[in-house]
Amino acid sequence: MKRHTERVFALVAGRRNARAMVDKGMMTTGDGAVGARLSQTRAGGRAMSLEDDWAHRARGTRRYSNAHGTGVEALKRNIGISAHIDSGKTTLTERILFYTGRINSIHEVRGKDGVGAKMDSMELEREKGITIQSAATFCRWKESDINIIDTPGHVDFTIEVERALRVLDGAILVLCSVGGVQSQSITVDRQMRRYNVPRLCFVNKCDRSGANPWKVLTQVREKLKLNAAAVQIPIGLEEEHDGVVDLVRMQSNVFSGPNGQTVTVGEVPENLRALALEKRKVLIECVSEVDDELGDLFLSGEEPSAAQLLAAIRRATIANDFAPLFMGSAYKNRGVQLLLDGVVDYLPSPSEVKNVALDLNKAEEPVVLSNNTKAPLVALAFKLEEGKFGQLTYLRVYQGQIEKGMTINNTSTGKKLKVPRLVRMHSNEMEDVASAPSGDIVALFGVECKSGDTFTDGTVNYAMTSMRVPEPVMSLAITPKAKGESTNFSKALQRFQKEDPTFRVHLDDESAQTIISGMGELHLDIYVERMRREYKVDCEVGQPRVNYREAITQRAEFDYLHKKQSGGQGQYGKVVGYIEPLVDSTEVIFENGIIGSAIAPSFIQAVEKGFKEAAQSGGLIGFPVEGLRVVLTDGASHAVDSSELAFKLAALAAFRQSFQKAGPKILEPVMKVDITVPSEFQGTVVGNINRRKGTINDSTADGDDVLISSLVPLSQMFGYSTELRSMTQGKGEFTMEYSSHQPVTQDVQNELVTKLGRAPR
Ligand code: GDP
Repeated sequence: MKRHTERVFALVAGRRNARAMVDKGMMTTGDGAVGARLSQTRAGGRAMSLEDDWAHRARGTRRYSNAHGTGVEALKRNIGISAHIDSGKTTLTERILFYTGRINSIHEVRGKDGVGAKMDSMELEREKGITIQSAATFCRWKESDINIIDTPGHVDFTIEVERALRVLDGAILVLCSVGGVQSQSITVDRQMRRYNVPRLCFVNKCDRSGANPWKVLTQVREKLKLNAAAVQIPIGLEEEHDGVVDLVRMQSNVFSGPNGQTVTVGEVPENLRALALEKRKVLIECVSEVDDELGDLFLSGEEPSAAQLLAAIRRATIANDFAPLFMGSAYKNRGVQLLLDGVVDYLPSPSEVKNVALDLNKAEEPVVLSNNTKAPLVALAFKLEEGKFGQLTYLRVYQGQIEKGMTINNTSTGKKLKVPRLVRMHSNEMEDVASAPSGDIVALFGVECKSGDTFTDGTVNYAMTSMRVPEPVMSLAITPKAKGESTNFSKALQRFQKEDPTFRVHLDDESAQTIISGMGELHLDIYVERMRREYKVDCEVGQPRVNYREAITQRAEFDYLHKKQSGGQGQYGKVVGYIEPLVDSTEVIFENGIIGSAIAPSFIQAVEKGFKEAAQSGGLIGFPVEGLRVVLTDGASHAVDSSELAFKLAALAAFRQSFQKAGPKILEPVMKVDITVPSEFQGTVVGNINRRKGTINDSTADGDDVLISSLVPLSQMFGYSTELRSMTQGKGEFTMEYSSHQPVTQDVQNELVTKLGRAPR
């Protein structure tokens, strides 16, 4: 038994770590076996300072990283922290900032000290103790530079999560050791999958009663379908949770001291040895399945060294074929330093990620960007924030280097500007920097632009691939309560629109009301609330309304002559052609199919304008028409009486004429609704979804819970959270995400036409 243990230890500890420990004076050089010498060190079980304790690993890590990247670049990490709300993301981020020396003390979320966690920079967030708006922050872990984007947890803010994921190279998915994979974890995981973001899982709250990281691991494998395995086992759970055993290096790590700074590295405790060996075997098997190198070792029956296993986990994680699972308790300061090591060990550096831009000079041909700092600058503005210092624009540099004072070009507006000031953000404090190379995340200070804009040095005309921006699904009318607040009111609306592409504002022509649109009730509520707190504008809000669309189902011809003779110059314009539905596209496309010159080219543009304007407001209930092609085949003009206006009016009327003949229908937003409820409520909840005209796609049992996946029209989802709560004694939860616009039934269509008629939107 002893020999076996020693052999495993020698194998996993590896010569590299041993060498580093010798360097640090922790060991003396001599002839004996590495394993034996390490055993002596462990026997002492000495407590080391944070610095001491991690120094040897930092060196090991750097050597490793250098082998896989280039220079300093290899030590950079851009990561996001995504999680189900309340799983401890804010607390974890706070600890990360503390251990990396960015803050000097720890303040709890909703803490009694009234300071609030550092990352909650908005007052609103502070009060609610949740994170709504992402903030990018920079910190240093040993020799690595880590940019952390704190991503919002609520699904109504998916655009923020998605934007963050778009610029990140890796992420930590935080899960609660008791709650496990909840419906919202599935949503955030799906987003990471969409953007191909490699991820580490962190099972937090191992100190809570009922903590069970193994149950969470099973859920990660089954529900998220991730090839995940634990790289640690817990040392004690619930109140006894003291630390973890690192399965790669086969070392125990016990955390102590008021803030968990003291990490005692030692031998795997006797009572956990069997479990550690068993779980290490599982880890090796899971990685071997997707990594040839480790697979070969595994088949030959050889035990991988710590360095070999680490390298294999890194390759598999970066390839998105594997997700290492860490565990601990952010609140009780257990395991966070090892998670940071994991970020450096297993998540990619910017140079290990392929990024693609679109060449605007070549019909948006994709171009692979290089990490070379000498290449032309390409940077994406992914986030705007209005702070006390004015507008801050967060930039991800993808290629080249941005420098203070250089002239940059905004490729979406064509505007040039001089980089006034470059800063790195630490939550809401900033630090000036002179330049930022590719792979970095920095903030521009005092620059006007929208989020999603691309900046270059002007020698290339690239745009970063457009982000998937869903159309708003819900609208409501909003008016400031007091007169004289309109300046702040419009300032706030402008700001929110710039920051959030899913938030839109328009003025309704007929009612003269301001209408705001977004991704759901909570989304809009938050902006109304922010308006009140940040801009001191109290608002009246109208009833929320669903954003319908209109579409046609068949081809229909038009042949329309607009002719008016009322003294002076007359109006004359004739358009002939057809409209037809588009398959798999929501665009409105205009095609000029006229051969010859029945209509002078100068009027064709007016015709197109007329059709596009007409499509803004369909003939059934006045909502925008989508998925349609207009083909102009013939027409006529008059030498004297034809004008742009005459042709535009002809097109408007021709559209209305043909729309009614083209089998028009109303489309409504349908939401993907995922509900988790204790199984005794399944019948009631499913019955309720059916009554709400929803369809159930899937129900999966999960212990005592059942996960119901359904599609429900948004119009039927009003007041759902209250009803779900009362149906399930407060135990049910749900997430809702836009899925698509689908035709309503004929009954509903008739009802809507009667109710809304061509009402204003
Ligand atoms: P977020 O919504 O994901 O940002 O979660 P927070 O960090 O705000 O945490 C939600 C709640 O869980 C707060 O009351 C935290 O104090 C608590 N919490 C966070 N991490 C832990 C943990 O490791 N153990 C325990 N017991 N509670 C935690």
